[in-house]
Amino acid sequence: MPESPEVDALAGFLRAELTGRTIREIEVEEFRAWKTRARPAEEMAGRTITGVRRFGKHLALDTSDAQGSGPSLLISFGRAGWARWNAEDLPEAPTIVRVHFDGDGRLALTDAGDWLSLGVSVTDDPTTEPSVAKLGPDPILPSFTRATLDGIVGGRRKQLKALLQEQESLAGIGNAYSDEILFVARLAPDVHASALDEEERGRLFDAITGVLGEAFAARRDVPIAEQKAAKVAAMRVHGRTGEPCPECGGVVEDVPGSKGNAQWCPACQAG
Ligand SMILES: [Zn+2]
Repeated sequence: MPESPEVDALAGFLRAELTGRTIREIEVEEFRAWKTRARPAEEMAGRTITGVRRFGKHLALDTSDAQGSGPSLLISFGRAGWARWNAEDLPEAPTIVRVHFDGDGRLALTDAGDWLSLGVSVTDDPTTEPSVAKLGPDPILPSFTRATLDGIVGGRRKQLKALLQEQESLAGIGNAYSDEILFVARLAPDVHASALDEEERGRLFDAITGVLGEAFAARRDVPIAEQKAAKVAAMRVHGRTGEPCPECGGVVEDVPGSKGNAQWCPACQAG
């Protein structure tokens, strides 16, 4: 579920809520989610949160103790991970890791997927972790320009839908926003990146920055428990199989071969 707009909103919430709080204890309910066996959860007890950083769809909770800056807790949300703050457990999204803070604050890291995809690790520098180090440019940053995109798509014999979701190429976009971006760009999901002409690359750039810019702004002040619903409600074509296309009034369809996981308007995106 979470892509960079939702993870960024969560980062903002956690930054405001957790900075200055001290970790009392971390309970790991599902040990497969704890990725650093040599650095157990106990290592984080007694440390104070100094900041929260987002890298693509990952979050780092930075800490320090009396001796100075310390390790970070790196959270990868995977396909269906999320977080709840001071809330009761939900059967549909089991709690995988619980972070207890002094003064009763409780952060639950959850996973609603059919299989576990949430991962947590302890690291001295999140930027050196493979999942973060491999990330391509983040399109929400001002440093992401038309030239950046041209460098990413140029010569790539890869379908656009797959390329948009490839974290090594662009950080933070997943299944839902890639559908939305391609719809706004009027480009078919199976077109190869290398086949785009100048004008189509321009449309793709405008759609990436436009769709993400709009989503970041819209998600920013939504409570974290309502992020999923807000995202679903904002979708133009993703998840709207059989509904009318908001542009042409035609019918939104599943992308062939996507097993119902991706949607498009064949009329608008015929190319
Ligand atoms: Zn349409």
